[in-house]
Amino acid sequence: MHQTDICILGAGPAGATAALHLANKGIPSLLLDKASFPRDKVCGDALSGKVVNELRRISPGLPQQLGELQEALPSWGIHFISPGGHKLSVPFKYNYQPEQDTPAGYISKRIHFDDFLVQQVRQRPEIELRENVEVARYERALEGGFILSDKLGKPLVQAKLLLVANGAQSGFTRHVAGLEQEPEHYCAGLRAYYKGVESMDADGFIELHFFKDFLPGYFWIFPLPGGHANVGVGMLSSAVSRKKVNLKKEMLRMIAEHPELQRRFAKAELVDEIRGFGLPLGSKKRTLSGENYMLLGDAGALIDPFTGEGISNGMISGRWAAEQAEKCLQQQNFSAQFMQGYDKAVYNRLWKELRLSRQMQKLLNYPWLFDKVASKASKNQALAETISCMFNDLDLRERLRQPSFYAKLLFN
Ligand SMILES: Cc1cc2nc3c(=O)[nH]c(=O)nc-3n(C[C@H](O)[C@H](O)[C@H](O)COP(=O)(O)OP(=O)(O)OC[C@H]3O[C@@H](n4cnc5c(N)ncnc54)[C@H](O)[C@@H]3O)c2cc1C
Repeated sequence: MHQTDICILGAGPAGATAALHLANKGIPSLLLDKASFPRDKVCGDALSGKVVNELRRISPGLPQQLGELQEALPSWGIHFISPGGHKLSVPFKYNYQPEQDTPAGYISKRIHFDDFLVQQVRQRPEIELRENVEVARYERALEGGFILSDKLGKPLVQAKLLLVANGAQSGFTRHVAGLEQEPEHYCAGLRAYYKGVESMDADGFIELHFFKDFLPGYFWIFPLPGGHANVGVGMLSSAVSRKKVNLKKEMLRMIAEHPELQRRFAKAELVDEIRGFGLPLGSKKRTLSGENYMLLGDAGALIDPFTGEGISNGMISGRWAAEQAEKCLQQQNFSAQFMQGYDKAVYNRLWKELRLSRQMQKLLNYPWLFDKVASKASKNQALAETISCMFNDLDLRERLRQPSFYAKLLFN
């Protein structure tokens, strides 16, 4: 059995980021994944500016290296299409110049992006990456820490500290940390790859459509390199069961029946099977750590409840987990109380944002208000710019929570 101080379970964005930050501090770690990379992950594949920032924190040259990948398409903003069909366009950077500026975000299939991160991992002697290792059981060791075993019960690793980054279906999260999947804070998602979808945005804007007959769900089209597109749908699990929605049927129906989509998909071809996966949302604060462990990324339910963005939050949690792990080793303290420093750091950085997004998610219960905001903004440049700034400035975004913001809009 392998003995180690730090074992990271899962080499997705959260786990790989934690391992890379530990390596930057000169701290060795063992990184396990049941898959071998490159591997696919069902996702919208949109990498926000926050991802680019996190890459820079790992190593200043990484954003440029990502930009040089043929598989990464620069993205300059989001088009929100309201239930009444009004388009609200929010650039990631005010007054951006695609020819001169560095792109604010990218869209890259996860099979490429996650492999890009794992390539960084492979270059670091401090990280021992083991692929094709599926951990199925977790037991507390008598002397503290965890013993991880495979399906047959064969012990694989004993670790003082476990960084759990094995995604939305983490058995550790459910059975050891005791976090339940709550349908009010969980989203069901589907992803399909198409080629030949027409009228894609020239500046790589991603599109989020909120169709009247699919609320509170959303439909997305994200452009990819080579004329391909990531197309998908997401809806709160509680709504899926309440309304008995068949997501796949609904997605294909919208493509076939909505006049705008019908036109744009007329010559499009589905190039892979339609696949589904869950999104554990960060719309509720959870306990993210305990004695000898921390939960990272989807294993700690940190996905933005409005946009569905989880890659950056996973990477942010990976960075803070590495900080905490360093302190634990220095002080040889792995107690649940000491580990709370991790929860505090993660929520200090993310909670304000997650709480706001929860409010925005609730706006979907008032489609007429959403329409009003989008319709006014589509005719009023100053308002469009204010909203655009709100997405990039958290203090301004607070205004979206205030009823006075909507009152002024309605009566002006
Ligand atoms: C339909 C959909 C659309 C989305 N769209 C976006 C988007 O456009 N942008 C965005 O930012 N986020 C999006 N997300 C969220 C994003 O995919 C996740 O938040 C992100 O992948 C979380 O990263 P992670 O490292 O925590 O987990 P993961 O990326 O899931 O990585 C977990 C790793 O753990 C490994 N693993 C799992 N179990 C075990 C085990 N027992 N033993 C060993 N290894 C194991 C897996 O092989 C995997 O490599 C979307 C999610 C879905 C489902």
